[in-house]
Amino acid sequence: MKSADKSCLYGHSPERLQQMDAAAVWHPFTQMAEYADPLVIAAAEGNYLIDTQGRRYLDGVSSLWCNVHGHRRAEIDAAIIAQLNRVAHTTLLGLGSPPAIELAHRLVEIAPGDLGHVFFSDDGSTAVEVALKIAYQYHRQKPQAEQSRRRFASLHNAYHGDTIGSVSVGGIELFHEAYRPLLFESIHLPSPYCYRCPYGLQAEECNLACATEMEQTIARHGQELAAVIVEPLVQGAAGMLMQPPGYLSRLRAACDAAGCLMIADEVATGFGRTGRMFACQHENVVPDLLCLAKGITGGYLPLAATLARDHVYQAFLGSRAELRTFFHGHTYTGNALAAAAGVASLDVFRNDRVLEGLPAKVDQLTDRLKELQTLKHVGQVRQRGLMVGIELVADADTRQAYDYAAAMGDRVCRAIRNHGVILRPLGDVVVLMPPLSITEAEIDHLVAAVSAAIVEATGE
Ligand code: PMP
Repeated sequence: MKSADKSCLYGHSPERLQQMDAAAVWHPFTQMAEYADPLVIAAAEGNYLIDTQGRRYLDGVSSLWCNVHGHRRAEIDAAIIAQLNRVAHTTLLGLGSPPAIELAHRLVEIAPGDLGHVFFSDDGSTAVEVALKIAYQYHRQKPQAEQSRRRFASLHNAYHGDTIGSVSVGGIELFHEAYRPLLFESIHLPSPYCYRCPYGLQAEECNLACATEMEQTIARHGQELAAVIVEPLVQGAAGMLMQPPGYLSRLRAACDAAGCLMIADEVATGFGRTGRMFACQHENVVPDLLCLAKGITGGYLPLAATLARDHVYQAFLGSRAELRTFFHGHTYTGNALAAAAGVASLDVFRNDRVLEGLPAKVDQLTDRLKELQTLKHVGQVRQRGLMVGIELVADADTRQAYDYAAAMGDRVCRAIRNHGVILRPLGDVVVLMPPLSITEAEIDHLVAAVSAAIVEATGE
């Protein structure tokens, strides 16, 4: 894109667009009173975003964790255009749609175990809402129904979305506390946050105390639990908190012992981010319900899916009069353009052998990240696949955090723009989650830029 090309700016100058942005667009998770000098992205190419002035930036967080194969992938663009030439949207309420049918089958093929039934919705939060409602209704309708199972357990520091149900199973005080009176109460399990272990233990000698408490809590509430919901392997929005090996399979076993369902929220971890197609596959875990969104369309269009195992699905079957129907459905559920993008993205996974190419990139990233650990204000560098959290601290020896008002994470992410990279932090955790299509040279650039930006912002 040339800066002189105004056609993609709706006839406005870049400066005017900035003013109009601040005046009329209420940005998510943003203090608008302090929203100054906004960067406006007008185009993209591969792993790069291009602003209204024509400046290029590596998309270091995959446009909020959703872009998978880079922007303007010819195959995905073509699939959407081809679908547009047929129809943009028709409803799934009582009607079928070829792209949605194809995508459902392809998801079932790649999902672990017998997750054979796909309920489409629009975004990660709705995928979670759907899972919670299915789990609740399932126990009322299964053979030997159990009315007592009406509660959910979730992890401290969990993030499952912004709608009321998904916030109810959330555990991030900063985001969720204000809404507490509106929420249903969930049962909290400790968060495996090894850098700030809730038990004050060291990772090597802790014997997974958090997992033991998780098992005991699930067992104690066994009879009242409809489901336990978890972000498998990585608690993303909490700051990329990595679960120790074995945690997930112990959670699966605890759910089985308690007779409740396990919901895996792979909205962030799904579609290759952890190095496998789904994070659950690292521990051979098959959840009863699997929530997918973000990368499902390659990061092109809003779409989500909640996959259910056969025994869950069966509980919803019966005659109309039995009222076993799942009474839920959003207008744009299974949108045809989005589903076409989803099928095309899975084609790219297959044709380009994307998963096979990941270990080399993950290893290179691990190797490069080592240099960050030597920086004075880097407390911990956490990585799983291509998901990285770099926790900044005021004092690395005492692990003393920065003041919230100091906005150190924001400052690093501001500084890195001058190095041609876009990032978005989670508090004082600098997040890297590049597209799976990131190249060797781009990984080098990304880490070098992060290192420089941390030094500049922390003034070390
Ligand atoms: N679950 C997880 C694990 C997420 O990371 C997110 C979004 N970051 C969501 C759910 C919510 O997804 P959405 O923003 O698409 O509603």
